[in-house]
Amino acid sequence: MHHVIVGNSIAGIEAALVIRRRDESARITLVSAESDHPFARTAMMYVFCGQLRQADTEFYDRGLYERMRFERVRDRVVGVDCAGRRVLLERVGALGYDRLLLAIGSAARRLTLAGAYDGPGVFHYVSLQDHVALDVAAKAGLRAAVIGGGLIGVEVAEILHARGLRVHWLVRDAWTWPVALDRDEAAIVEAHVRDHGVDVRAATEVTRLDRGSALKLTLGVEEPLEVDLVVGAVGVVPNTRFLVGSDVALSVDGGVETRADLSSTSVPDVYAAGDCATVTWADGSRRPETLWYTARDQGRAAGAAMVGDSVNYRRSTWYNSAKFFDLEYTTAGYVPLAEPARRDPTPGHWQTWFQQHPNEAASLRIVAKDDRVVGFNALGRRWSTEVWLRWIHERRTLAWVHHHLAESSFDEEFIEPFPVLPSAILHEGA
Ligand SMILES: Cc1cc2nc3c(=O)[nH]c(=O)nc-3n(C[C@H](O)[C@H](O)[C@H](O)COP(=O)(O)OP(=O)(O)OC[C@H]3O[C@@H](n4cnc5c(N)ncnc54)[C@H](O)[C@@H]3O)c2cc1C
Repeated sequence: MHHVIVGNSIAGIEAALVIRRRDESARITLVSAESDHPFARTAMMYVFCGQLRQADTEFYDRGLYERMRFERVRDRVVGVDCAGRRVLLERVGALGYDRLLLAIGSAARRLTLAGAYDGPGVFHYVSLQDHVALDVAAKAGLRAAVIGGGLIGVEVAEILHARGLRVHWLVRDAWTWPVALDRDEAAIVEAHVRDHGVDVRAATEVTRLDRGSALKLTLGVEEPLEVDLVVGAVGVVPNTRFLVGSDVALSVDGGVETRADLSSTSVPDVYAAGDCATVTWADGSRRPETLWYTARDQGRAAGAAMVGDSVNYRRSTWYNSAKFFDLEYTTAGYVPLAEPARRDPTPGHWQTWFQQHPNEAASLRIVAKDDRVVGFNALGRRWSTEVWLRWIHERRTLAWVHHHLAESSFDEEFIEPFPVLPSAILHEGA
């Protein structure tokens, strides 16, 4: 049985390991256009900043492929012939498969500004190749515009600033990262990033890009901004362009349609996992999840399905953490946000408790439904998502969580507990 896995990142390698554990004799081939060794994409920024070497971000040792008898093909897949059971490669023809996993991840969403790609100076930060190109171009003293207010946008603003560029962070939305932060939380992030010397501009749309000796941006109707380089950080899209026109069904957002349990796609013996897979969310909507740990879990589920195990992929409760410069961000569970797709449609009595720390750049938001805590969003302090997820599963009340809050703090021994003040805002309704 030949298992071909397109994608040699977290979803792909985890699937390969599951298959090998179950089938000693299977032939397993991983195809990647990006790198010979899987690496933590989430740590790419630390390589840019010189804090890690690229090899430090590889999460399995390099001997793994030989030990597991995984074959590797370093090439780009340009098509899938499902009837003929083969993937078409850019350089070396075709590769036949018995079972095929698409673990092809995301690519940067391209800017829609006319002329953006007609010349040099416009970059992205998703693939290793994006990272290398930006690393070469980003010289201290240059002026940079980072377009896009999400997690990748703030990371790029940070690494360019650390390199000594003068950075303008341009965010079209009313505030930064609206899929994860509300207005009050974003204000803390924006102030923090500004304090580091980055020019943060929310509610700012880049409407034109003209080329000359520099890149001349127009902000809004007529405000000019000259920079030496632009990084488009306006989100990611499933890496599925080569599947358009194949038998593999894609959703409107370009993700590979999967069965709810990840047991297959629209085509027999073709599977999908990770950032490229359209899956069912808790609120019933269908879209890719684009998270590191869900790509890992999906890879494992798809690998099990490929060896014939019955699988039932269900994402565990959401959690994530990140850092905006040196400001901690931690989230767990369900937190309703401005974006309609993140609103829970189910009826109930919703409450949101929000406390901004009186003396620190820190905040805590706790969401409860029918007096059971369902989600947390925090900035500035370090919190244990493990404890929060436990409390959510134990269906703790808001009052109980307030009382026990310090038990979820990583910093408890060293600093004052996060205050639960009467001045906190309690908002009723989702
Ligand atoms: C800068 C950055 C920071 C991030 N930070 C976080 C974070 O803090 N927390 C978090 O949870 N997530 C984060 N993510 C998201 C996380 O990295 C992804 O969810 C995860 O990498 C998805 O894994 P994957 O295996 O599905 O795909 P990817 O990691 O995208 O890998 C895709 C693989 O497919 C291969 N491939 C694609 N197309 C082809 C083709 N046509 N032919 C051959 N090979 C192909 C690529 O070469 C690669 O090997 C971040 C992402 C970026 C870009």
